[in-house]
Amino acid sequence: MTPRESSARWLDRVLDSFASRTGLISVIGLLLAVCVAAGIYVQSAADRLQQDHAAFRDRDIRIGYVTMSDVQRLVLIAQLALDAGAMTAPLARDFGAVADILQGRTEDFRRVMSERKQMASGLAAIRHLDRIVRLANDAIAAGFPDDRALAGALLDAAAGARRTLILYLDDMRRQAHRAQESQALAIQRQMRLMLANLIVLALISMVALVLLRREVMGRRDRDRAERRVKFLAFFDTLTELPNRAQFQDRLRDMLATNEPLVLLYIDLDDFKMINDTYGHLAGDAALRHVGGVLARIARLYCGFAARLGGDEFALVAPGDGADLQRALCDRILADAAMPLAVDGELLTIGLSIGTAASAGVGGGRGGAVTVDMLSRITDFALYAAKAEGRGCYRLHDSALEQRLEERRAMVEELPEAIRSGQLEAYLQPKVNLRDGQAFGFEALVRWTRGDHLVPPGQFIHIAEESGLVIEIDNCILRRATKLIAEWNAAHGTGFSVSVNLSALHFSSLRIVEWVQDALWEAQLPPELLTLEITETMVMRDWTQARKVVGRLRALGVRIAIDDFGTGFSSLAYLRTIRADELKIDRSLLHELDSSEQARLLLGSVLDIARNLELEVIVEGIETQDHALILRDMGAGRGQGYFYGRPAPPGTALAEATRAQHAADGTVAS
Ligand code: C2E
Ligand code: MG
Ligand code: MG
Repeated sequence: MTPRESSARWLDRVLDSFASRTGLISVIGLLLAVCVAAGIYVQSAADRLQQDHAAFRDRDIRIGYVTMSDVQRLVLIAQLALDAGAMTAPLARDFGAVADILQGRTEDFRRVMSERKQMASGLAAIRHLDRIVRLANDAIAAGFPDDRALAGALLDAAAGARRTLILYLDDMRRQAHRAQESQALAIQRQMRLMLANLIVLALISMVALVLLRREVMGRRDRDRAERRVKFLAFFDTLTELPNRAQFQDRLRDMLATNEPLVLLYIDLDDFKMINDTYGHLAGDAALRHVGGVLARIARLYCGFAARLGGDEFALVAPGDGADLQRALCDRILADAAMPLAVDGELLTIGLSIGTAASAGVGGGRGGAVTVDMLSRITDFALYAAKAEGRGCYRLHDSALEQRLEERRAMVEELPEAIRSGQLEAYLQPKVNLRDGQAFGFEALVRWTRGDHLVPPGQFIHIAEESGLVIEIDNCILRRATKLIAEWNAAHGTGFSVSVNLSALHFSSLRIVEWVQDALWEAQLPPELLTLEITETMVMRDWTQARKVVGRLRALGVRIAIDDFGTGFSSLAYLRTIRADELKIDRSLLHELDSSEQARLLLGSVLDIARNLELEVIVEGIETQDHALILRDMGAGRGQGYFYGRPAPPGTALAEATRAQHAADGTVAS
């Protein structure tokens, strides 16, 4: 932080403390206290002034009185001497002392008058006093030659002095009174002025403080809004974890330090099912639960967790090695699996995790590791974890790296493979369980890549990700319809054919045209074509999917829901998509011959299909036991290795036709 920023922050803090309610009250209280203190100070100053003035006035008046009494005394001594017939020595001593006092007093009086020049009565009194002092001093100097003359002169001078002193005292009293009044007024005026100033100052301060508070509040609101905008830009609001943008920035920064780290991609298993079955609030609760678990574990390992979007999360932790990756994954799976109570229901959340270490990128060949490189291999590890079955984790290693390379190569080669006819439609018979006779076939794509045959499981999902599956499906659709139509025409058979369609087709009506074209070109009756669809996460817009399915059914083709029971095909899906056929996934046949529960489950699914008037095809029949059990359970149709594996069309069709003819007692051609 620069010094400027830190002082601005300090100022903000001071303003903030002023702008608080207690801050405001304290400041106003302080102002009022200052006003009161100022008032008291002014009042005491005025009192002091008045006292000083009074003291001054008293001195001026007193000097008038004492001078008058001194004059009186001097006259009295002169008269006593006259009465005694001579100025005796004691009287002369008294006379001299009083004359000295009077002289001193006259000097004092003169000093007082020098401060009050305009007072004529005072000046006149001084003149008289001077005369008395002169008379007295002259008499003393002359040794009192004429007591009578002295007494007469003193009496005369004293009368003048008394008169002027009385005038002086009157003047003094008047003047003092006037001064007192005007001074009191002046003090009052000053006090009022000062109080008014203080009140105005207090009011201005209060207004300023209120404005300040408003400004600070406004700034706080702006700060809060800014923080919110920043939060929205870099955090996920639901889980409050960093979002994808922040995740990428932080991962990039961590990779730039060249310190080893591990990256985990975490994906909720069957999140769509949670949303569909328990509602979106439950979905949100599940995401928050996982977010909380990841944030806690990330903190423990000094890393961070992020929500990348949907049900995808990431966790980054510093360190290296498979042990760290396993410890993290085990802990996450265990903590996330704690049952979560939502609306009285207990949800158990399963996760799939893919993880990779930065040290292992590019097989540990060194060089700068980018976010992209690390993300891609972690993604692939996640993908592998999902493929291996949910609720598990997969570490990126060299075998996975090899598969990644393979995958990359496939993505590059697929377009050319489609164009150059390297894709073939193998056919697997669909049979009546009653007699094992094939009534139709499912077309399953095979890719002849070099000298080996690649099954769809290895490339369909890649094709789905790149969108190429659309072309693959169209290609298989044309081939399969053509093959079956030609075979039926040539051999008098009435086989039907099922073609798998990716969910990607159901976002547009283009597939309707393609099916129409394929039927027309092959001259295959529409009722002999079944389109198998699997619900996947891609098929989000069910309204649109229903519309496309409606158009397809209007063409007369049949719709089958594939892989029912795998978790993808939910009951809600059955309600939405109007189908003709339900293909029960082979996973439901697991332990059919040993587990009563497995039989009960399959029985319930068969009941559902029957109630919905759907034709049922049970997939994955591998043994005669399966076939017998299923027949006993009332299943009508099936498909599986027990009846025939997917095979090149010529082989599959010839085999089925031969079997049919054999059953009819004719010879297959
Ligand atoms: P699916 O549509 O459910 O096809 C049935 C899969 O089960 C086929 O695998 C088939 O070989 C296999 N299968 C049949 N009977 C048995 C059995 O008794 N035991 C076992 N273990 N497996 C059995 P395949 O051919 O590898 O196809 C896998 C999936 O690839 C298909 O599942 C389908 O979803 C997809 N697929 C195949 N061809 C196409 C295509 O042309 N387009 C699209 N979009 N998907 C296709
Ligand atoms: Mg299928
Ligand atoms: Mg299937």
